[in-house]
Amino acid sequence: MDVVTVAGVEVDTRHWIGGSRVSSPETFVDVSPIDNQVIAEIHRGGTSEADAAVTAAAAAFTEWSRWSPRERAVVLRRLADLVEENIESLSQLETCDNGSLLRSHRRGVMPRVAMNIRFFADYAVEKLTYPVWETREHENHVSWDPSGPTVIITPWNAPLMLATWRIGPALAAGDTVILKPPEWAPLTASYFADLTKQAGIPDGVFNVVQGFGPEAGAALTSDPRVARICFTGSVPTAKLVAKAAAENLIPCSFELGGKSPTVVLDDADLDLAVDLAIEQYDNAGQVCLAGTRLLVQEGIADAFAKRFAERAAQIQQGDPREEDTQIGPNIHLDHVARIQGFVDRAVSDGATVEYGGSVHDELGPHYFTPTLIRDAALDSEILREEVFGPVLTMQTFTTDEQGLALANGTDYGLAACVVSGNRSRAEDFCKHLVAGTIWVNCFFVRDLGAPFGGSKKSGIGREGGHWSFDFYADVKNTVYAPSGWKE
Ligand code: NAD
Repeated sequence: MDVVTVAGVEVDTRHWIGGSRVSSPETFVDVSPIDNQVIAEIHRGGTSEADAAVTAAAAAFTEWSRWSPRERAVVLRRLADLVEENIESLSQLETCDNGSLLRSHRRGVMPRVAMNIRFFADYAVEKLTYPVWETREHENHVSWDPSGPTVIITPWNAPLMLATWRIGPALAAGDTVILKPPEWAPLTASYFADLTKQAGIPDGVFNVVQGFGPEAGAALTSDPRVARICFTGSVPTAKLVAKAAAENLIPCSFELGGKSPTVVLDDADLDLAVDLAIEQYDNAGQVCLAGTRLLVQEGIADAFAKRFAERAAQIQQGDPREEDTQIGPNIHLDHVARIQGFVDRAVSDGATVEYGGSVHDELGPHYFTPTLIRDAALDSEILREEVFGPVLTMQTFTTDEQGLALANGTDYGLAACVVSGNRSRAEDFCKHLVAGTIWVNCFFVRDLGAPFGGSKKSGIGREGGHWSFDFYADVKNTVYAPSGWKE
């Protein structure tokens, strides 16, 4: 069936190419992590669907790139309005598809989807300017020109939010877009495609190719007509995308994984520190920015561990559609097996599971319980590799210098959270931390105008505000001579 009803919402399971629904001969199953039921058969795109989508995006680019930022903003603002009008449907769909909390989708994630589009549409109109300056009386004029068909590839942990935070600036910059949604949570992308049509986005400006990464994703990233690739996902996949893009020298933006620290200094407000540490279990630990390595200074480590254990025991795990649920299921049984593998190997390497460590007895095989691991050896896998599940580790340190060395002792550098009662000490600590984003006495405060991205293996490039346009647009400098004019 091409159109299915999921959580009461009708959604088309075909691709969206050139303003029409397009079928593939094969489909793949989409399973809800809430109850392991098949909710849809999704059309399985490959080389021919990718080729058709890039052809449509390249054709539409000619016209869309000539629209002024103001004209583009009119339809993009309408799209943002439509997202807001459809928050309930989008939330129901996403929760059923990826198991994230319904109340978070309603109150935080889907409003942010609308904001992603409106913010960048407005930004292109109001803020995308640079002062003219002179070089030996010649004038330099900087402009951000549309660059061409842009491929956006996203993971399943926040599919529509992560997609629109790139679709917004790409479309506002005058690029056309081909989105390859994640195969474990493909539905909201398809629903969103219908909204782009209703908003008046011209055919071919926005396209969706469903399918598996090595098929649809690989075909899109190796197409020489593509002008930009934005990839959000894991480090091993990023290497494949980088190789494919290198063949045609296509600029890429990489937003990858993390192994971020939550550092608690001994002058921290303990209640705040525990609150922030517990937050790292949000979305069942499937958050790239999560500060999964708790690094606590010796003097307060016992008190912290005691309070943390009390709070962790109260976490309400269950159906993500229930209002009081704090942690839902993990995305897929393969992913749960991966999480279990990390925990089992940590134990055989000598670490201790303080609590959790397996799937929930009653809730079903998708529900991995919040887990804390201690006493892991310094170079062990559990301290080095991203688990992407509700698994935190705890280590202690004595001096700030040692804390800093632990915090930076990773190949990743996406984010860090620092908890301290002393501003100048915290500032000193942050100065030497290697991370794209640092939160001090807070977590997950994200401004769309701020730079976002990863250091070291956590990514290449920054997005947000001007940084987004520096990537999606072709930045041009036009130099005008003072002489040679006839009028
Ligand atoms: P993944 O790398 O397995 O897949 C991500 C996307 O890439 C999917 O859409 C997949 O179909 C596609 N893909 C797979 N193989 C491909 C190929 N050969 N060519 C092109 N595309 C291909 O990652 P995942 O398991 O879906 O997501 C989890 C990862 O994403 C974690 O590492 C997490 O930290 C990261 N992440 C990063 C951010 C960020 O902003 N830095 C945000 C969310 C998630």
